[in-house]
Amino acid sequence: MFNLAILTFMLRYPKDLLTLIAYLKKLPGVGKKTAERYAFHLLEWAEKDLHEFSERLATLKERVQACRECGCLMGGVVCTFCSYNKRDCSILCIIASPRDAYAIEETGDFRGLYYVLGALLSPLDGKTPENLNFAQIKERIQRLGIQEVILALDSTLEGDATALYLKEQLAKMGVEVSRLALGLPLGSSLDFVDEGTLSQAFSGRQKF
Ligand SMILES: [Zn+2]
Repeated sequence: MFNLAILTFMLRYPKDLLTLIAYLKKLPGVGKKTAERYAFHLLEWAEKDLHEFSERLATLKERVQACRECGCLMGGVVCTFCSYNKRDCSILCIIASPRDAYAIEETGDFRGLYYVLGALLSPLDGKTPENLNFAQIKERIQRLGIQEVILALDSTLEGDATALYLKEQLAKMGVEVSRLALGLPLGSSLDFVDEGTLSQAFSGRQKF
């Protein structure tokens, strides 16, 4: 006769494997089954690859840091977005995440500067205007003499609320404000928009 307690014990993965599965499940779109598949796959990797991978993970935040000026990611001490002297320093594109800069760069339609907000307004999640640090945006606009600000924010409730707040603040400074509109599906995140649509949204940006 099977003892149920023993059977449950037998079916349980080793503790280290369970921990690995729990970490993998933290990744977006990864459920229990996928996490298990990944964990077993990793067990098949060569020891040296696992070491290299874990070393990369452990030092990721040291190696990839946010630029203090624009918030975009940099792999060394110099930010490629801020230091490249062929960029148009009169236009600033405000984005929510550093990832958005890469999506926009791929369109080839924008050669100005970026500013990463890091968060969108969302009172329910405790994200208030203080989290946006407008004083820093204002200082940068004044220091660089920015003439136009493009708000490249998601077409969601949070994106809209943030855009409205920024528009009010920027209007007081007398800079031209536009927002990506044409082509961006309502409720969409820039992450999920294809290059062509984003490019269209850029060239069709509207005065805001
Ligand atoms: Zn930068």
